Amino acid sequence: MTRTHTREKASLLLIYTGGTIGMKQDPATQTLRPFDFSQILEEVPELRKFAYRIDSYAFDPIIDSSDVEPGLWQCLAELIYERYSSYDGFVILHGTDTMAYSASALSFMLDNLAKPVIFTGSQLPIGVPRTDGRENLISAVEIAAAKDTGGHALVPEVCIYFDNMLMRGNRTSKVSSDNFTAFRSMNMPPLAEAGISIKYNASLIINPQDWDAGLRISTSLDTRVSILKIHPGITPQVVKNILCGEETRAVIMETYGCGNAPCKEWFMDIVRQATASGKIILNVTQCLSGTVDMTLYSNGKTLLDAGVVSGYDSTTESALGKLFYLMGQTQDNTAVKEMLNQNFKGEISK
Ligand code: ASP
Repeated sequence: MTRTHTREKASLLLIYTGGTIGMKQDPATQTLRPFDFSQILEEVPELRKFAYRIDSYAFDPIIDSSDVEPGLWQCLAELIYERYSSYDGFVILHGTDTMAYSASALSFMLDNLAKPVIFTGSQLPIGVPRTDGRENLISAVEIAAAKDTGGHALVPEVCIYFDNMLMRGNRTSKVSSDNFTAFRSMNMPPLAEAGISIKYNASLIINPQDWDAGLRISTSLDTRVSILKIHPGITPQVVKNILCGEETRAVIMETYGCGNAPCKEWFMDIVRQATASGKIILNVTQCLSGTVDMTLYSNGKTLLDAGVVSGYDSTTESALGKLFYLMGQTQDNTAVKEMLNQNFKGEISK
């Protein structure tokens, strides 16, 4: 549905972390490198036509998002917390490569969010004629400023806006390295779609429990997570190194279909050894859409019986952010396993 929104006096903070949207070609190396943030705003004079106050903040250094570390998420959470009362919404310009990881992590780190935090970027640098960056940025700004007639934000969530679609951040994956449709949210319809007008899917948007309770942030993250992608021909040594690694507290196991993995003896022995030692094994599907259901096939049931936890229809990116966040809250792995079954920020369908 299209909602009316007040434009007057909306104030936004545009945060620039890096990414293609703000890169240009280095003549010496012929590779794309980040450039000065002020030039981005010059490239998008349309932003001045909005009656918004738009302030900007650029990270130093600005980075290709393949260099993103959880430290950036902590800085973003702190920045939003510090500036929260001064702005109606936040737009984060970010490289596409790890945008889904960053948006997922931020969705868990920001609690009782009552204002939009919209990630966007582009496939082509903003200075080139056919760039997708201009439309992505302009619409992200409009969405971040959008309010209902009562003055509440229309989308008080961490989202990714890309190629006419507003998607819940923790439902989104990068699906193309060269199409303008770089992101998809396969298990959750878009929260809004931009055509001639921006149509919001209000029934899907999650509002805070208490609009006035104030933002809370959690910046304590435990990153001792590995990812194991199951494939035909995987060897015992590889499985053992990942599942039983000393530094590993949790493993995201990317399984086939609705959560199936080999049930051969050597494989299940290693899985049982890992869970018996207290490690968390979270089962997510390799499929682009659909959910894990370990009760459907006997191979899945064997995993369930061995103590593997269901990731439901979570993306891997979201599962990683959720584990970092939950493990940062407690050292008790049994408690983390229980909390993995809860839907915190619309990241799983339960
Ligand atoms: N390598 C770039 C980045 O993620 C790609 C992009 O922004 O599209 O920073």
